[in-house]
Amino acid sequence: MPIPRKPILAANWKMNKGPSETEDFLKSFLGKISGKSFPCEIVVAPPSVSLAKAAEVLGGPKVPVQLAAQNASQEDPGAFTGEVTMVMLKEFYLHYVILGHSERRSIYGETDEVINAKMKKAREANLKPIFCIGETLAEREAGKLEEVLGRQITKGLEGLTEKDMLDTVVAYEPVWAIGTGVTATAEQAQEAHAFVRGEIEKLYGEAVAKKIRIQYGGSMKAANAAELMACPDIDGGLIGGAALDPTSFYDLIEAACSVVEE
Ligand code: PEP
Repeated sequence: MPIPRKPILAANWKMNKGPSETEDFLKSFLGKISGKSFPCEIVVAPPSVSLAKAAEVLGGPKVPVQLAAQNASQEDPGAFTGEVTMVMLKEFYLHYVILGHSERRSIYGETDEVINAKMKKAREANLKPIFCIGETLAEREAGKLEEVLGRQITKGLEGLTEKDMLDTVVAYEPVWAIGTGVTATAEQAQEAHAFVRGEIEKLYGEAVAKKIRIQYGGSMKAANAAELMACPDIDGGLIGGAALDPTSFYDLIEAACSVVEE
């Protein structure tokens, strides 16, 4: 029986592609997917300066690609130089916002508390968070995988309602696999995803846990996508490097969708 969760494949371009490169990518990518249908939701997260162009190119009513932002502020409008609010981003027909990415945590010092404030602000703006969690190599090697994921989940989701949770996608991204070319094995990824689903069940109950989509992120590519996607608790991918080129992203989507039961 097919699982009741539509897999989600999201491209995180990080600090790559200004408006003209965004336009080139999307036109090429739309050409590749034209006339095809996929059993997965497809999402692209350009840098915020490229969202307007992306919204323009994806503006057709039947374009099956959703837009995500990579970050936004937890604050209301005001004196926060360099920041943008969640509500401002909504003007670009945005569905999702990536929050808690390990680069935001490690480079910009975002704590679980800051990420929790951003989660709440995203929900106020009716944006769907892609809530990223994951352990470092040192934490995994020290046997702290469950402790770290448990803490990130409990603190990051504090105060979020069941409805908020149903509109949230969780991205399990082992930090040691992001941008390194080292992918978690399907067994490692499945084990972590099952643990994450179990933690969500503890907080929100079985019905919610069964509906939540948990993406894998960390050097996912066409060559490993099918094996990862075949795992029962893996409901998609958050993809960096392999989503920077339209052919490579398209190939990954085809591979990932090949194991999805419709
Ligand atoms: C990411 O940026 O979330 C990511 C998983 O990157 P990569 O696919 O390059 O490892």
